Amino acid sequence: NPHKTFEYRMMEYGEDQLLLIVRDVSRVSHLEEMRKDFVANVSHELKTPLTVINGYLEVLSASTEGTPPIVNKALNEMGTQTRRMQNLIEDLLILSRIESSAERIFENVIDMRALFQQIEMEANALNKDRQHEIVFKVDPELKVYGVESEMRSACSNLIFNAMHYTPPKGHIEIIWKRRSGSAYFAVKDNGDGIEDKHLRRLTERFYRVDKARSRKTGGSGLGLSIVKHVLHHHNAHLEVESVVGKGSKFYFILPPELIALDEAD
Ligand code: ADP
Repeated sequence: NPHKTFEYRMMEYGEDQLLLIVRDVSRVSHLEEMRKDFVANVSHELKTPLTVINGYLEVLSASTEGTPPIVNKALNEMGTQTRRMQNLIEDLLILSRIESSAERIFENVIDMRALFQQIEMEANALNKDRQHEIVFKVDPELKVYGVESEMRSACSNLIFNAMHYTPPKGHIEIIWKRRSGSAYFAVKDNGDGIEDKHLRRLTERFYRVDKARSRKTGGSGLGLSIVKHVLHHHNAHLEVESVVGKGSKFYFILPPELIALDEAD
């Protein structure tokens, strides 16, 4: 039946018998599809009104001469909050695109060197006052198969998180190298760190260790959820090691079959 979705599980049963359990999950997967469509549609519909609001805010903010300070303050805050909402919607759209991504990972080779160069430029722009020492240790030859836009989201989310959750004068290290036949990516910081009890839930949508703090950083609360889905799509998963007050290490390992060898190799 093409309209049904089944889940299968095989179990050993006694000495020489197997038990096949077939579960009809059509309803669950149908509801899940509806949820994804709904989120994608709502996000898309919210984009237009927000663009209009932002446009008018810019017009109003351009001519502030003679306007009382309280009005300027209000316009400023409205601008900040509108941009936050735009970021949130952008992340919701990225997430729903990745969740239902059918793009094949073996079709394109990602030039990771170029990808990290671009992220490094963005990170430096954000790190204008040299608050942090950011070190990129990247093997320029190491290329992988995958979806470039997704991999860029994953890596930059982890790097920008390290910057957000590390107090000034922190040290952040980004590593991309071969490790026992696989490709290894890590972001290490000596920032806030995370208590053990939170680690398991970090990749849930909107899960935050410290809500007030995260709101100040302007994050959407979807960053690690995006990372999780990207990695799932690339046959990998996110690992975290963290000690409160000492810092965190977020890393993942891409399996050997994703490494793109040069002709010469
Ligand atoms: P947010 O937009 O809130 O940063 P994320 O999904 O990217 O959302 O991260 C979820 C939460 O994980 C953050 O709110 C923060 O509490 C915690 N977190 C993420 N990265 C780090 C890090 N490098 N150091 C400490 N805490 C972190």
